[in-house]
Amino acid sequence: MISLIALCILGAFVAAILAAVWGKDKGQAGEMQIYNVLEQLEGQKAIISNCYLPLKDSGTTEVDLILIHESGIYVIESKNYSGWIFGSENHKYWTQSLPNHSGQAEKYQFYNPLWQNETHIRCLKSLLQNNEVPYYSYVVFGNNCEIKNLHLVSNRHRVTYYRYLLGELSENARSVGRCLTDEQINAFYALLLKFTDASDEQKARHIEEVRAKHYPIIKPDGTWICPQCGGRLVPRVARQGSGAGKTFWGCSNYPKCHFIYNK
Ligand SMILES: [Zn+2]
Repeated sequence: MISLIALCILGAFVAAILAAVWGKDKGQAGEMQIYNVLEQLEGQKAIISNCYLPLKDSGTTEVDLILIHESGIYVIESKNYSGWIFGSENHKYWTQSLPNHSGQAEKYQFYNPLWQNETHIRCLKSLLQNNEVPYYSYVVFGNNCEIKNLHLVSNRHRVTYYRYLLGELSENARSVGRCLTDEQINAFYALLLKFTDASDEQKARHIEEVRAKHYPIIKPDGTWICPQCGGRLVPRVARQGSGAGKTFWGCSNYPKCHFIYNK
């Protein structure tokens, strides 16, 4: 009898561990999918994953992904859930509904991801100390779920699926235009990287990689090469905007490649 009870406890224990590991794996797989999407977005950018930002009073809050893009800072919460999703911007908890074996739905509650992102953005604003930077909140659900009923009252958040993310980001970036300089992208990236759990060596390498992508490669013969596509950089004159009339270096593969460098 005792051994039977022990076996049951052991069984439940193993199931709990498997569920936790599976949930975590699923979460990580979701973040990876989003990371791959962000990498495809055109324009100058840096991506930070799993950033633990300090809260005002104490403790930290974890941000799944932060995209520092020339059009602004995108704060992304990944929800790799399945089933049906119901939620409202004003409600503290949202509901995930999963059909079970008997045909009935099992319901789970989770904390309002829009509120989560509000907190993330507040933390970022106080860390980066720059009021001009636009912030965008994105909550992105896995392709295996269906957002059934969602009540959004403000314009502050976008809720979408993995499969639509690249299109939505591209459209937003295009309509907003350039808001951050390369120097700002690098500076914010270096600052936020301190709050990730990467090792010091990884952090140094990340910074070097981002820096390298933003600066021209100068060959021994004096030609300037685009760090993003390997094309030749050529001097150009800005035709519009605040810098009209100024010269800058542009990639000869424009419009395929948008790299520019201001001396
Ligand atoms: Zn190029």
